[in-house]
Amino acid sequence: MRVGGERAFVALGANLGDCEATFSAVIEAFEREPDLRLIAASGVYETPPLGPPGQDPYLNAVVSLHVWLSPYELLACLQAIESGLGRDRGPDAVRWGPRAIDLDLLFFGDRCVTLPDLEVPHPRLHERAFVLVPLADLAPALVHPVRGGTVEAMLAAQEGVDDIVPRARPAGWPGAR
Ligand code: ATP
Ligand code: CA
Ligand code: CA
Repeated sequence: MRVGGERAFVALGANLGDCEATFSAVIEAFEREPDLRLIAASGVYETPPLGPPGQDPYLNAVVSLHVWLSPYELLACLQAIESGLGRDRGPDAVRWGPRAIDLDLLFFGDRCVTLPDLEVPHPRLHERAFVLVPLADLAPALVHPVRGGTVEAMLAAQEGVDDIVPRARPAGWPGAR
C-alpha cells in the first residue's frame, strides 16, 4: 500500500458543449493518473452563471482526491486535463466567460500556498454557493485553514443557495445508476 500523500478537493465547472460528457471524462482522466486516487464525488448541480451576461447555466461539482503530488504538480495536472477537454485559454478567452471545463484546486490538506499562479485555499471559494453546496456533500465539517470556519458554516452564510439545483449524475459519474 502506498503511504503518505495529501487530501485535495477540486471543483469542476462547465457550461460549453456536452457538459455531462465532459464531467464523466474528467473522472476518467483522474482514474488514469498514476499519482492520484479519486476518493469521492459530490452530486452534480446546475447553477446560474457568474460573469458576463448571456451565458448558459453551469454544471458544478466537487471531487476529493488523494494525491502524491505537490500542489503545483496537481495544478499542472488539472490544467493538462482542462486542455485535453477543450478548455480555451487563448488571448481571446473572457474572464469568467463560457468554458468547456474549469478545474479549480480548492484545498490541499491544510496547506496555504501563495504563488503568482497558485493560491490555495482557492481565494474565492468561501463566497461561492456553487462551490460550497457540492463541497458540503463531501466535507461539511472541513475547516478552512485561513478563515477558520467549517464548510457548513460558510454555506449557511451564503446567498443564492436555492438557485443551486441538483441534477441526475451523468453516466460514468461515481454513484450514477
Ligand atoms: P476563478 O479563479 O475566479 O474561479 P477562473 O477559474 O475562471 O476564475 P482561470 O482562468 O481558470 O480562472 O485561471 C486563472 C489562473 O488562476 C490560472 O492560470 C491559475 O494559474 C490560477 N490559479 C491560482 N490559484 C488557483 C487554484 N487554486 N486553482 C486553479 N487555478 C488557480
Ligand atoms: Ca473557477
Ligand atoms: Ca480555474
